[in-house]
Amino acid sequence: MELFRLGISEALDLLEKDEISSREILDSVFSRIEAVDDRVRSFVSLTRDRAYDRMEDLKGSEKRGLLSGIPLAIKDNICIKGIQTTCASKILEGFLPPYESYVTERLFKSGYILIGKTNLDEFAMGSSTENSGYFVTHNPWDLERVPGGSSGGSAAAVAADECLGALGSDTGGSIRQPAAFCGVVGFKPTYGRVSRYGLVAFASSFDQIGPITKNVKDAALLLNVISGRDPMDSTSVPVEVPDFTAGLDREIKGLKVGVPKEYFIEGLDPEVELGVRDAAGVLERLGAEIVEVSLPHTGYAVAAYYILATSEASSNLARFDGVKYGFRAEGKDLIDMYMETRAQGFGPEVKRRIMLGAYALSAGYYDAYYKKAQQVRTLIKTDFEETFKNVDVIVTPTSPSAAFRIGDKVSDPLQMYLSDIFTISVNLAGVPAISIPCGYTSEGLPIGFQVIGKHFDEETVLRVSYAYEQSTDWHKKRPGL
Ligand code: GLN
Repeated sequence: MELFRLGISEALDLLEKDEISSREILDSVFSRIEAVDDRVRSFVSLTRDRAYDRMEDLKGSEKRGLLSGIPLAIKDNICIKGIQTTCASKILEGFLPPYESYVTERLFKSGYILIGKTNLDEFAMGSSTENSGYFVTHNPWDLERVPGGSSGGSAAAVAADECLGALGSDTGGSIRQPAAFCGVVGFKPTYGRVSRYGLVAFASSFDQIGPITKNVKDAALLLNVISGRDPMDSTSVPVEVPDFTAGLDREIKGLKVGVPKEYFIEGLDPEVELGVRDAAGVLERLGAEIVEVSLPHTGYAVAAYYILATSEASSNLARFDGVKYGFRAEGKDLIDMYMETRAQGFGPEVKRRIMLGAYALSAGYYDAYYKKAQQVRTLIKTDFEETFKNVDVIVTPTSPSAAFRIGDKVSDPLQMYLSDIFTISVNLAGVPAISIPCGYTSEGLPIGFQVIGKHFDEETVLRVSYAYEQSTDWHKKRPGL
C-alpha cells in the first residue's frame, strides 16, 4: 500500500488497529516528497529531522491524541515557535517566531507531526503563488499551470500526496480557490470560529485559518481540533464547538439549496458551469430542494474587497521595518534603513497593495473609498442574511475557470483580482464556505463546487458536502505525477 495516498481518518483507523506505524507513514510521505517535490515545489521548508524526533516522542507518550502520528503541512504564514516563518517574503527571511500560533498549538496537543511549511503568494496576496518571493508552485494536475493561491503550496501538497492534510488561510478565497484548482477539499470557517493568533495578519477583519484535505471528513476532523475561543484573539467567538464529524452522514432530504443567479455570468467557463450545475443536480437527487436566489450586490464585491483588504494590509504591514523581524538592509540613518528594508524586502504585489491601501485611507479619499467600501460590505452581508432566511446553503462555482497557465495573469493584476469573484463575498460577509471537487474539464483539470453556509453553521456545509462527496467519485481521482 502506498501510505502517502491515505487521508487523515483512513490513516488514523489503520494506526488504531496497529496495521501500520507512524514511522511507516512518515517514511512514505518523505519519500513521496523526494519523488515529486522538485516538480511541484509545494514547500518553502521541510522539517524532516524534527518530524522523526517528534514521532519518537509520540511513541513514548501513553495518551493518544486525536491526530496522533499524522503528518501535516502548514502554510508558511502561520507561526510555529522556532521554525522559520517567511510568508514567502524576502523581508521575513530568517524570522524565527518566538511563539506558537493557536492552531498549531492545538494540533500539537492532538499529536500531529509537522513535516514542513508550504509556499504561498507573498503575505497571502494573490491567487496563483506566482507572487511568492521565492518560487512558483506547480499544479500537480498540469505542471504548467498554477495551483491557485494564496495557499497554493498547501493545496498542491495535499493533491500531490506529499502530506495527509494541511492548513491554509483564507482572506478572499485563498483556501477554497487553490483547493478547487488542485482537486481537493478546502474549508474556510466562519470568521471568528478559529483563532488568528499567530497567523501573520494580512487583512485582519477577513483572515481565517482552515483545513485543506483529501476529503470532507478530514476537513471536519481538523476543524474539530483548531476551532474554539482563544483569549489571545478577541475576534474568536465564544460559541460552542460541536463535533463536526458527528452529523456528517445525516441525509440532506428537505434541505433548501440556493443557486444565486449572479454567479452564473458571462466569463464563467462553460465546463465549470456544467460541473457545478450537475453537482446541484446530485443534491436534488439526494432530496434537497434547489431554488434560484439572488445576491444582488455581488457585482461590487471585488471592488469593495480590494479597497478594504489593501487598507488593512497597509496598516498591518507597517510593522515590517527591519527592526523587529527578519531581513534588514543597510541605510545611512534610521529612516533610510526603514525605506531600504521595505524597498528590497517586499515584492511588487505587496508594494502595490500597501500603496492602494494607504491611498484609500488617506485624508480626502477615506470617505470616497474606505467608507464607501465598508457600506458595500454591509450590503453584501445583508444579501446573505436575507437569502439565508429561505435556504440552508448556497452553492456556486468556486472559481470562474479551472487552473490557468503560469504566466497568464501575473502581469495583469486586475485579471488576477477578478479571478476571486466567487470567493470574496463570503469573506466580506464572514460566512463559512467549502470547496469540493465536482468534476474535470476536457483537459483533465479539476473543477471546484462551493457550498456556503450561515454564520457558525459549518455543520450543514459539511453535511451537504459529505452527502455530495459520498455519491460521487471525484475525490478519489489523483493526478498522474
Ligand atoms: N486572492 C485574494 C487576494 O489576493 C485572496 C487572498 C487570500 O485569501 N489570502 O487578496
